Amino acid sequence: MKGIQMARRVYLDHNATAPLLDAARDAMVAALGRPAGNPSSPHAFGGAARLDLESSRREVAALLGGDEHEIVFVSGGTEADNLAIQGSARAWTAAGRAPGHLIASAVEHPAVIESCRYLESTGWRLTLMPVDRAGRVAPSELRAALRSDTALVSIMAANNETGALQPIEELAEVCRAAGIPMHVDAVQAAGRLPLDVRRLGADMVSISAHKMGGPVGIGGLWVKGSRSVKPLLLGGGQEARRRPGTEPVALAAGFAAAVRSARERLADSSIQRLRDRMERELAGAIPGLVVNAAGATRLSNTSSLTLPGVDAEAMVIRMDLAGFAISTGSACSTGAARPSHVLAAMGLNRDQSASTIRVSLGQSTTSDDIETFVPALSAAAAALRGAGVGGKA
Ligand code: PLP
Repeated sequence: MKGIQMARRVYLDHNATAPLLDAARDAMVAALGRPAGNPSSPHAFGGAARLDLESSRREVAALLGGDEHEIVFVSGGTEADNLAIQGSARAWTAAGRAPGHLIASAVEHPAVIESCRYLESTGWRLTLMPVDRAGRVAPSELRAALRSDTALVSIMAANNETGALQPIEELAEVCRAAGIPMHVDAVQAAGRLPLDVRRLGADMVSISAHKMGGPVGIGGLWVKGSRSVKPLLLGGGQEARRRPGTEPVALAAGFAAAVRSARERLADSSIQRLRDRMERELAGAIPGLVVNAAGATRLSNTSSLTLPGVDAEAMVIRMDLAGFAISTGSACSTGAARPSHVLAAMGLNRDQSASTIRVSLGQSTTSDDIETFVPALSAAAAALRGAGVGGKA
């Protein structure tokens, strides 16, 4: 930020990462201030660290309505997804079976899709479920895609780009009826809407601390009961033999504090009111604006907006210079914008995808932020529209 003078910055990219909550920072500082100890050590220092860790585990389990013994601490959402999918595949083949069949939705995060693709390269078969215009998988289509050798179905609770919620309970019921386990990537949903893993009917659920104001570097995989998931790393027997490595006690304390704060805010609809107001005002100010997945129930903080004729990358840069942090709707890799696989699966064409931005609000978002953001985005859209998609503006 050096060299750029701005009166104020507004952060509207909470789906990328949420600002660290004071409570999470305080909990980590307190934990780091306690005498060092490895939770696996038998002495008093180790015992104290173990007590800290298990108390954090209880908090995280409570967010999901799960049992504390069912929470595996991992490094984040990416690892939770990898462990759920590849760890299940390893357990499947370790039982003497040939590689089977996996199902995921076409709009999953790369942590899920790439895990499935990797397994596909080793002999597994993969079905990517299509979605409707609002980004949802139809339970009847999932039922039709199940096979006798389907080992796992992985479908996210809420999409990171559009906020669209999947009908998880119905999809899980389809899986349950067929006796097939289901993994749910709830990285964006956890802490933002009530989740009860037993009611959802899932077998594994991934979550990540930094999406809810906790620290980057820790997440959790909830694994139902004694379901077998083989570790992906080789090492000690930590985390019930599912994830070796000395546990990060201070990160877990920060995660637990973020979870506590998220649970207290679950019934708070103020973010939704701000988001809805923002969408209404933008729709009035920007001709042709489309709110993607508007036909689905969505996360209350997320807006995926297509601004026809506007280059989304140019918009993100322009808004950044104006002091607003938003993101493109499409994933950007190695500097080259590719059309978002999520938007493509929902039926948007390349131009529409290249004109889509994501605005994601959070706990720190104020009504002032939205009041200044709406005219700034509207003015930028008018200025960029002349340049067109792919223009140099
Ligand atoms: N799953 C979803 C839906 C996500 O949005 C993300 C991060 O954006 C991840 C998984 C990966 O989480 P992490 O950044 O904690 O590795």
